[in-house]
Amino acid sequence: MNTRPATSAGRVTVLMYHRVGSATNEWESKYCVSAGRFASHMKALQQRGMQPCSVDEFVGWLDGSAVLPDKTFLLTFDDGFLGVYEHAFPLLATMGWRATMFLVSGLIGREDEWCRRENPSGKSHPLLGRREIEEMARRGFSFQSHSRSHPDLTKIDHRALADELAGARRDLEDLLGQPVLYLAYPYGRYDDTVLEVARTSGYDAAFSVQPGFNRRDVDRFRLRRLDVFGTDTAGALLRKVTYGTNDGSWWQSVRYYGERITARLTNAPPIRTIRRPNDERGDRPIGGNAFALRPIQYHTECRSVHAQPQGPPPTHPARPRPSHSP
Ligand SMILES: [Zn+2]
Repeated sequence: MNTRPATSAGRVTVLMYHRVGSATNEWESKYCVSAGRFASHMKALQQRGMQPCSVDEFVGWLDGSAVLPDKTFLLTFDDGFLGVYEHAFPLLATMGWRATMFLVSGLIGREDEWCRRENPSGKSHPLLGRREIEEMARRGFSFQSHSRSHPDLTKIDHRALADELAGARRDLEDLLGQPVLYLAYPYGRYDDTVLEVARTSGYDAAFSVQPGFNRRDVDRFRLRRLDVFGTDTAGALLRKVTYGTNDGSWWQSVRYYGERITARLTNAPPIRTIRRPNDERGDRPIGGNAFALRPIQYHTECRSVHAQPQGPPPTHPARPRPSHSP
C-alpha cells in the first residue's frame, strides 16, 4: 500500500458551469453543457487525478486551517438550473463527487427570467425547486447565494444592493437551515460598493469570473473561476485546467511551449502574454501586468454582457456598462 502522503495543493482551480441539458439554439450552446459532454468532462478530470472539495474546505484552505491534496478543484454551478439535478447530480452522486450551486433566491422553483430578454428565442429554463435542493443538500451539495433576482449589482442603488445580498442570504438560510456564507456575483460584475456591501451583508467570500488559479493570497472577494462552455471538449477543459485560462484551444498549448522553446534558445525572458502552468500568480502574465485584475468583472453567462477581450486593462475601469448581445 502506498502510504506516501499526497502533495498538498499550492493552488486550487474553481470550475464554473451553468446549465446542463440541451441547448435549443446557438445562443444557448455556450452556457449549456450536454449531459454526455458533462460526463466526458468529469471522467477526464478523474483520469487526470483531480478530486473536488467542498466550498467550506476550499475557504478553509484559503484561511490556512485546512490542507487539500494536490489536484483538488472546486466544482460550481451558477444560477441553479434544474438540469443540473436531472443530468449532473446522478453522475456526481455515483462518483461520490459534490458541487456548490449558487442560487437566485427569489426564483426558487421558477425559471431564469433574467435570460428571457437576452435569448433570441425568448425561451427560459426551469430552476431548482425546494425538493431537489433538499435532496441534493442531503447528498453533500452546498447551496450558496447568487443574489435575489440576478441583477447587475453595479447598476442598482445601495438599498436595492443590500436587499439583493443580505436578502438572498436570509432567504437561503431560511430554506436550508444552515449558514450561507458565499456569493457569486451575477454576471460576475462588481465594484467597490458591491464588495463593501457583500462584506457587511455577512459573506465570507465571493466568486468572480476572473480566470486563473487561486492561491492562498487571492483576494477573498475576487475568487477566480474558469468558465466551462458547452462547446468545450474534454481536451479543451483539461487545457483550461492546465493553463488556468478560459482559452482551451490547442493554440494555447502551442503558444506556451513555443514561448518556452524560444526563451530557451534565445535565453530571453518569456513573452509577456504567455502564462506558465505553475505561474505563481495564476493569470498574471510573465513579465508584465497586462492581465492585471480589473475592478469590474464581466460575467459572460446569458450573454447579457460579453467577456472582456484579453489585453490591457481599461483606462477608465469604473462601472463600465455591459454591452448586450446582438
Ligand atoms: Zn448567473
